[in-house]
Amino acid sequence: MTAPLTDRFAELHAPAHWRAVEFISDLHLQASDPTTFAGWQRLLQRPAAERADALFILGDLFEIWVGDDVLSPTNRSSESVFLRHCTTLLHDLSRHTPVFFMAGNRDFLFGTDGLRASGMQALDDPTVLDFMGQRWLLSHGDALCLADTDYMRFRAQVRTPAWQTTFLAQPLAEREAVARGLREQSEARKRSHAHDPTLWADVDTPAARQWLQRADAPMLIHGHTHRPASHELGDGLQRVVLSDWDAAASPPRAEVLRLSAAGLQRLPLKTA
Ligand code: MN
Repeated sequence: MTAPLTDRFAELHAPAHWRAVEFISDLHLQASDPTTFAGWQRLLQRPAAERADALFILGDLFEIWVGDDVLSPTNRSSESVFLRHCTTLLHDLSRHTPVFFMAGNRDFLFGTDGLRASGMQALDDPTVLDFMGQRWLLSHGDALCLADTDYMRFRAQVRTPAWQTTFLAQPLAEREAVARGLREQSEARKRSHAHDPTLWADVDTPAARQWLQRADAPMLIHGHTHRPASHELGDGLQRVVLSDWDAAASPPRAEVLRLSAAGLQRLPLKTA
């Protein structure tokens, strides 16, 4: 799962003119949640004065992505129309603001056609961002939830080129059915653990510390767990967890993490 210690993590060096960057993750965009979509659209279409110099999407932007062929105009399902609309909005933003995309466990099949359609630049998981004279380790976070051994086995399997080639060769409707099944399984598991939050897999502290030491970075920024917080990991190491988005919940959950000379700020989404 993790690369040998001698391997270096991918690195992204911020251009010298960047003053602020923003991170979001776990929006789980889907046609059936227009409220969250509307909030996200407002974020993308802010006036220039409010925007950061780059937007980093750290996984699970989409509730599910079963292959880039959902973007084909011959696909008239409401979900396909919705996803095409999302990629068009991203492409509009990418004309003036770089948008970086790291895959999550829901949208790891987002591929080169999706990147082209959305104007986003792919990031490895993890990636070290070199910005403001510091190193920041970015990840979706699922690879560090080691206690969920079933999921770790599943992850190792579905991230292989062989599994993906076989899966993508199936007709779109079959892939959508498989995805629905997996989602129901995962929801059922969450429900069965709902009575005891300690059973929800969280980021493994020793593994996070090991990644940070290897990255020579003091801070890990990640999503996935839907538990926004900042954690001290010892020896000056920290991890900061992004909020998931559910703008229809009360109170609404939707937040941008902004990094600038002012430090890290959690900015709640402005409601319309
Ligand atoms: Mn996730």
